[in-house]
Amino acid sequence: MTIKVFLTNGSDFTICEACVTKGKRESTVSLLAEGEPFLCDFCEQLNVVFEGTQPEKKLDSAGWDLRAQDDASIPVGKVQIIGTGLRLAMPKGWEAQIRARSSYGAKGVIVANGPGTIDHNYRDEVGVILLNLSGSVFEIKHGDRIAQMLFAPVPDVVWSRGSLNETDRKGGFGSTGVQ
Ligand SMILES: [Zn+2]
Repeated sequence: MTIKVFLTNGSDFTICEACVTKGKRESTVSLLAEGEPFLCDFCEQLNVVFEGTQPEKKLDSAGWDLRAQDDASIPVGKVQIIGTGLRLAMPKGWEAQIRARSSYGAKGVIVANGPGTIDHNYRDEVGVILLNLSGSVFEIKHGDRIAQMLFAPVPDVVWSRGSLNETDRKGGFGSTGVQ
């Protein structure tokens, strides 16, 4: 249950079931459509709607584990898209990033477009683009954890053409770490 509350001044906010139970609700006006993702304006928890395989994570980890939907075999030096069996919807203003697992990276198997971006309105199965830079064929089994997913806010950006103020940061590529 998700509730959207409209205030008399014309603004509105969205509230999750847990916050309603805690008595944060002032006046209930309408229910959001089922399957609509949202950010609770009280507890700031991101509510993501999904189909298929639910990602999991350890309590204090930042990333959610994505698992391979099928067995796969990535030849040396090749790229392969590995399905995860996950489809998801997140609110506008958010993205999900696909990052390599450190254990894979240490073997030379990386996310080729890393970090990959899942836009909020993407509805197909999440695929992980893995590149095998190790010296041998890389085997993946159904259910293997192949990458991790992190959620990040995406601000609206307005570009203003103008004169830039000066800072003490100058120099071109490779200028850091030389001093
Ligand atoms: Zn809440």
